[in-house]
Amino acid sequence: MQLITEPARKALVVTPHPDDAEGGCGATMAKWIKESGSEFTVLMCTNGDKGTSDRELGSAELAAIREGEQRDASSVLGVKDVVFLAYPDGGLEDTMEFRGQVVRQIRKHRPDTIFCIDPYRSKSHTHRDHRMSGQVALDAAFTYAWSYLYFPDQISQEGLEPHRVEQAFLWGSESPDSFVELADAYLEMKAESLSRHVSQMRNRQPSDRMERIHRWSGETGEKAGVAYAEGFRRIQFDIGSEDWSFLHR
Ligand SMILES: [Zn+2]
Repeated sequence: MQLITEPARKALVVTPHPDDAEGGCGATMAKWIKESGSEFTVLMCTNGDKGTSDRELGSAELAAIREGEQRDASSVLGVKDVVFLAYPDGGLEDTMEFRGQVVRQIRKHRPDTIFCIDPYRSKSHTHRDHRMSGQVALDAAFTYAWSYLYFPDQISQEGLEPHRVEQAFLWGSESPDSFVELADAYLEMKAESLSRHVSQMRNRQPSDRMERIHRWSGETGEKAGVAYAEGFRRIQFDIGSEDWSFLHR
């Protein structure tokens, strides 16, 4: 159980659907960007084209709406860039192609930290895309991105270099062990960013949203002895050696 006091310098947030990242780590993004000048890039894996009960709305139209909403939501938090892989909602698989796409973004943006959903649960079930995106993000960070022998065309043809990610923060974890303390202003920014996902928020009032965020952040904060927090399971990719040959043992 620890409070995280050292912000990421550069972070890549690998997230399955529009609005997941804002709900999972939105206030942390807002805080670190504002207070520490952290650079955040959001990698949006699907286009969220199944997220409606409106039978009049087609998938392509919904995908276009949700891309715009994601850009709005990310700009509220100060995110530098949003990259869209545009897989269909529910269509993520743990493939070499998907892994290579995440590796490419790691090599391009060179984050010290990745954020993703905890793919491992024993007490509850979650959306398949949540499991797949979390799993692929962790595998891409360790070890695919940092050996030039994986996806060598990215090195030889795209001008990218291998990159070593230092740590991952996993949101939606059953066992969070690391917490970011949050002032009220950042909870409000989180609520505001969530409200930009207009197509998903039709039945929710802003005051309800703020009340829920206060309640959840308060419950999470209690675990860390602070008023409000977001909680993560932290993984440190610490090999403690420059000898990469161990990767293949
Ligand atoms: Zn989702």
